[in-house]
Amino acid sequence: MTPVIALHGGAGTILRHKMTPELEGEYHAALRACLQAGLDVLRANGSALDAVTASVMALEDDPLFNAGRGAVFTTDATHEMDAAVMEGASRRAGAISGICGPRHPVLAARAVMERTEHVLLSGEGARHFVKGAGLEMMPADWFGTEARRKALRAEMERRERGEADDGDPARKHGTVGAVALDAQGHLAAATSTGGMTAKMPGRVGDSPIIGAGTWADDETVAISATGHGEYFIRWAVGHEIDARMRWAGQDLQTAAGGVVEELGRIGGSGGLVAVDRLGNICLPFNSPGMYRAWCGRDGQIRTSIFAD
Ligand code: ASP
Repeated sequence: MTPVIALHGGAGTILRHKMTPELEGEYHAALRACLQAGLDVLRANGSALDAVTASVMALEDDPLFNAGRGAVFTTDATHEMDAAVMEGASRRAGAISGICGPRHPVLAARAVMERTEHVLLSGEGARHFVKGAGLEMMPADWFGTEARRKALRAEMERRERGEADDGDPARKHGTVGAVALDAQGHLAAATSTGGMTAKMPGRVGDSPIIGAGTWADDETVAISATGHGEYFIRWAVGHEIDARMRWAGQDLQTAAGGVVEELGRIGGSGGLVAVDRLGNICLPFNSPGMYRAWCGRDGQIRTSIFAD
């Protein structure tokens, strides 16, 4: 099996008319470097799970993306991060929600999968577990960036003025995630996010919800989503795509593209990255763009931001 990998840096892309060539170049370079981190694992015969973990760790460390360092703020100007991992061979999964502390929330999710009998830990208990697991912890102010602070201020002021949302996805959205198929034919997915700017404290998005923002089953598909989490939860996006492939015999493009298009029609902006058991890759989104990178069976790394 030729290994393949795809990742996203969120559907919260800067609108094209606000993007500068320099910043666009920075995004492409970052996407490529983060994909390479996972690809190196796969090419050294590593597992899909290790590959998606490596790519998501790289994305979490890059403040351009809304996960780990660079996470968005809640209305209380705090960070509450969500993350999940899932492996397709066994449907083992681990997730963490509403946490601020671990430098790499994806490692916290993986520790839940590998070291507890649970799937999802949240809040104080999660933090306590993560500290005990010996993961690297960072102070809260390490995660915040000026750009995210500005986005929070702008969003809070908009709400105070009672103005309608201007639809700029960069202000609100973002998440990172990766999906991979390894040489042994195993699939895995990982997702990590700060959530949505100015979310209510306590709000949980789709990323740590297995079957919504994160999904992997070796018989069908691995998925990592980004976008308006409430819609992705209500549509059980990951599992819905799996079901259309498994029970309705749809191919990846029809199943994943169809679900994302339907979400777009009802206001659920966003997208996802998906790879199926044969190594086909699909990167649908209904938003103006989605930061993404992939390396398919041809071995070429590609990066893209907007619809073209
Ligand atoms: N899906 C994430 C959430 O709802 C945010 C995003 O991807 O924009 O928490």
